[in-house]
Parts: sequence; C-alpha cells; structure tokens
Amino acid sequence: MSEKSVGTARRAGGMPSLRLCVLALLVAGTSVASAQDQDPPLVRLALVDLYGLTPDVAAASAAETAAVLDRLGARTEVRWKAPSDPDDPRDLRVVLMPGDPGRLLKRTVMGAVQRGAPTLTLWVFPRTVAAVLGLPTEAAGSRTPEERAVFVRAFGRVVAHEVVHLMCPWREHDASGLMAAHMSQATLRGVSFEVEASLRRDFVLGAAVQADRSLQLARGGGPLD
Ligand SMILES: [Zn+2]
Repeated sequence: MSEKSVGTARRAGGMPSLRLCVLALLVAGTSVASAQDQDPPLVRLALVDLYGLTPDVAAASAAETAAVLDRLGARTEVRWKAPSDPDDPRDLRVVLMPGDPGRLLKRTVMGAVQRGAPTLTLWVFPRTVAAVLGLPTEAAGSRTPEERAVFVRAFGRVVAHEVVHLMCPWREHDASGLMAAHMSQATLRGVSFEVEASLRRDFVLGAAVQADRSLQLARGGGPLD
C-alpha cells in the first residue's frame, strides 16, 4: 500500500552520471576490491532533530539505527548535532523533519534522499513514520513503552533504507524487505528482519567507497572522482 511506502526524492537528470562515476570507481578502486576482507567500513551519522524526539526515544532511535547499519556490515557512529553546529565532511547528515512532507513529495513519504547531491544528507519524517504505524504523531505524544519500541524499530529501518540509497546509488529497490520501495508493516514492525547477503555485500562496497571519499574530503583533497 502506498501509504506504507518509503519514498525517495530524486532529482531528474542527476542519476545517470552519478551511476557511471560510482561504477567506474568500483572497478578502478583497489581499496574497494578487497573491501570485504577488511574491517567493516565506518559510517558516521550526524542527526539533526527538528522534530523534537523525547530524550529516551532519541537515544533509542540512534542506537537502533546504528544496530541496523551494523547488521548491514558497517561500523556505525551516531551523534546528535544542533543545526548551527559546524558540519563535518565525513558525516552523513540525517535531518528529522518537523512536519509532513511538502507538496513535492507524497504525504506518505517517510524518508527521502537526493541522489547525486554533493553532500550526503537524508531527510526522515517522524510524523509520517508514526502515522503509518498508527501512533500519535506529536513528538511528545503519550506513547506507551511498547509504542515507543515500535516507533524506534521503524525509525531505524527507515533511516537505514535511505542510508543504503546514499551509499549504493546504483542500487535499485528490492521486491521486499528493508530495501522495498513500499516497506511492509511486517518489515517496519517485525522484531527481526532478514538481511539478504547481496544487500550486505552491496552496502559494504558502497560504504567503503564513501569512507574513502570522506577521508579525501576531510583531508581537503576533494572527492575521488
Ligand atoms: Zn527507497
């Protein structure tokens, strides 16, 4: 059902060239060829909360997001930052939006990325996530511990879905599971979920490419391509 979907905003015309450059990098990058034999790639998330999660839900949401990405094969560091805090070029920014998706997106979109953008940012819409789960949509809504657990689980999976898009821009959606275009209630709510070996392999490759790119940026050398 469309109201249970995880949507993705794409800028027309930006994707083909990005696909080409990423694929070329995968072929040419010697460090990537052996990525799976190396330590898990580091994924650094900087969360900016414009929605206003309560402290307990914020802490649990960060931990859950890191746990999902770790299952995909990364080593994940998550920090919260204020909008005015300086950006670290190694970070992938996760912006928790305060309201519903705007008119350019479907109102049922839970997360979005802009593929091909020079900086790595994803947007998540906690109000929509809560609404899809049938929970109160206010940030300080009186959720029971079980409701909070359901929200946190879904939040981590929605963010992980969008992180995969940013790390693996060549990758299309899967028919089901974490990377389904229309994430099912079972995937959002389930206590556990399957991680396909191919998804894990792709993510490790993509995250390794991004980790190299981030190091270059942090050193002031510009992106690899
Ligand atoms: Zn998607």
